[in-house]
Amino acid sequence: MKLDHSFLYNEANFCQRCANPLLLKEDEEGKLRGICPNCGFVLYRNPIPAVAIFCQDEESRLLLVKRKLEPQAGWWALPSGYMEIFMTPEQNAVAEMEEETGLKGAVEHCIGWYYGFSPIYFRVLSIGFHMKITGGTLMAGDDAEEAEFFHLNELPPIAFDAHKYFIKKETGIRAP
Ligand SMILES: [Zn+2]
Repeated sequence: MKLDHSFLYNEANFCQRCANPLLLKEDEEGKLRGICPNCGFVLYRNPIPAVAIFCQDEESRLLLVKRKLEPQAGWWALPSGYMEIFMTPEQNAVAEMEEETGLKGAVEHCIGWYYGFSPIYFRVLSIGFHMKITGGTLMAGDDAEEAEFFHLNELPPIAFDAHKYFIKKETGIRAP
């Protein structure tokens, strides 16, 4: 049975190149796309790449931020963000850490990736980075309401499955 993926294009009504109404139809591979009958533009819906930062202080406490914005506003999460197009995943991780927490950091290793659900983009591909602190002062900034270190046995409920997965992988602890 073929799944109906037309909901992915619910808000894609016009060609972004020539403003002609888009047609929802299958491409040559039989995959549903938003296709412009006027100029041939094809709109793809892909997972959105994001980065998440796992970082501990010298007491092994975990760096978390309280989210100011949706999705999951008011929840605690790892510092994280959607990738900017001209930055590598590592550069994104360094930038997000400083923007959200005031701390400068360096990547120690890539933890892995998590393919998860997003209420806004349907699917997000999160790349987790284990980072160490190299400078700066802890201070919530950008889209973080608070930034704080938590002992691993006192973690608050975590906003995203991807972040719980990265925490579990690095510490063995199943965060609430
Ligand atoms: Zn067009």
